[in-house]
Formats: sequence, C-alpha cells, structure tokens
Amino acid sequence: MEYITNFRDVKKHWGTTLRGGVREMVLDGLAMKNELSNYEKWYLKPRIQFLFIHHIFEDEEKNFDLVLKELTEHHTFISHSEAVERLLTGKVDKPYISWSSDDGFKNNLVAARILNKYGAKAIFYINPETIGVKDVNKAGEFCLKKLDMPPVEFLNWDEVQELLNQGHEIGSHTMAHDNITKMTLNEVEDDLSRSKEILSKRCGPVGHFAYPYGRYSDFNKQALELVFKTGYESCSTGERGCHVSDGSSIEKEQLVIRRDQIIAYWKLGHMKYFIANGAKKAVLENNFIPEEWK
Ligand SMILES: [Zn+2]
Repeated sequence: MEYITNFRDVKKHWGTTLRGGVREMVLDGLAMKNELSNYEKWYLKPRIQFLFIHHIFEDEEKNFDLVLKELTEHHTFISHSEAVERLLTGKVDKPYISWSSDDGFKNNLVAARILNKYGAKAIFYINPETIGVKDVNKAGEFCLKKLDMPPVEFLNWDEVQELLNQGHEIGSHTMAHDNITKMTLNEVEDDLSRSKEILSKRCGPVGHFAYPYGRYSDFNKQALELVFKTGYESCSTGERGCHVSDGSSIEKEQLVIRRDQIIAYWKLGHMKYFIANGAKKAVLENNFIPEEWK
C-alpha cells in the first residue's frame, strides 16, 4: 500500500460514475450562468462565509492559490474564533471568510502554506487517534473505512504544532471519526471530553468542534447539548449555508455553523459558483439549530 499525492487518484478510487459526469455538466452550466450574471456583486454582501476543505493535493495547489487570490480582493479573512465571536455579538459589517479543514491529512501543511501567503488563519479539525499514525496500512485502512478515501498520510504532532506556530487553530473532529448518531449519549459525551482533553494538552485551549460526515442526519440535538456541556464554544456542520446578522446577539448554544465545502480540484468557475451562490442565498435562519434536530 502506498500513499497517494494527487486528487485524480481519489477520483479513480471513487470511480467515474454517471452521477459524477452529469454533475460536472450541470455545474458547467451553472458556472457559466453565474459568470454571466455578475457573480461578483454577491461577494460584496456583508456576511460570514465558512469555507472548508479536506486536502490540498499536488494537483490542487495551483487552483487553491487562484481561488484565494480572487477572494482576497473582496473579503477579509478571519479566524474561526473571531468569526464565532462576530456572529454571537452581531458584528457582521462586511464580507468575511473563515477557513477550515477536516480530517488532519499531512497535506494540510500545503493548504496552510498557501493560506499564509494571503494572511488567512484557518482552523484544522483533527482526530487525535490518526495523528502520528506512521504505518501506511493502518492509515490506509482508516481512510478506506472511515473516509472513503485511498491511503492519505496524516499529520504528526510536530506538524500540528507547526500549524499552531503559524497562527492557525486546532479543533476537535471526535477521537476517531465515528458517526455520532451510531453512539450512545454516554459514548458521545466521553468522546467529546476525551478529544478536548487530549488536544488541549497538546495544543493549548481547544474551543471548537466539527462533527464527522457533516450532514444534519449525522448529528442531533442531544449531541449538540453535549458539545456545550463539555465546554466547547461552537459546533460546525458540513451543510451548505452562509451566515448573516441583523445586529442582534445570539446565545452560543443556539448557534450552529454551516460551511460551504470546496474541492480545489474543481474548475475555478465551479468554486466561484458555490461561493457566490452561498452568499446570494444567505439567510438569518442559517445561524440557528436546524429544523431536522428539533
Ligand atoms: Zn471528517
């Protein structure tokens, strides 16, 4: 077993599905429409848009740089902690973007290098159990079973420290990337506090949490309550949605963060489409606990 270093190998692993092909075509159409309808005006909307990635492979580096370069013209990049603080206090006075990455792959260091170039501070959500795993077979088995990915190398603790030294933040993504809805509430509480404790010992205070798999159906209201009970300041999903404010403050237990995923391998036009469309569709309700959990 060998580690992969290009996203095209992930695509090979996923297979070229009919669905994938249709999606590309639809996206091409949407991106073109977006191009024609002056998408840049949506960039000017005061908002906090949480953008997240999982990896920057070798064949994604150039595009990631290009999208950052484009966004930096119209946006202020802020850390996750600042973004949460601004949402809680209703201070969303201009277009902000806050970056995050999940799963703790070693190529997060490449993402960080490019983010640093544009002065962006991200939060990296990691699983303590995969950090420093050296054996490619062990990492490969984890990637296949938990992430539906071919073998990708994980960060080690020195590299996590490097990210912190560069001014980035570290958050919990659970101990071992298990689906919260398949655990008992006692197991969830134990996982939340154990991952927080381990990360805090290694990284200093860890205040933010993003649950694995990211769909609303992969989490619930009871788990959300445990996130705050165990001392976290925020909970992030992987559901699309962009945040705006009417100036009023929000209780932290009511705030649920939506994030727009981008894959830097996509055409630049596709990424721009998702970002502009997210900004366009941003509503106040995106700040709060989703209907699905009530
Ligand atoms: Zn994940």
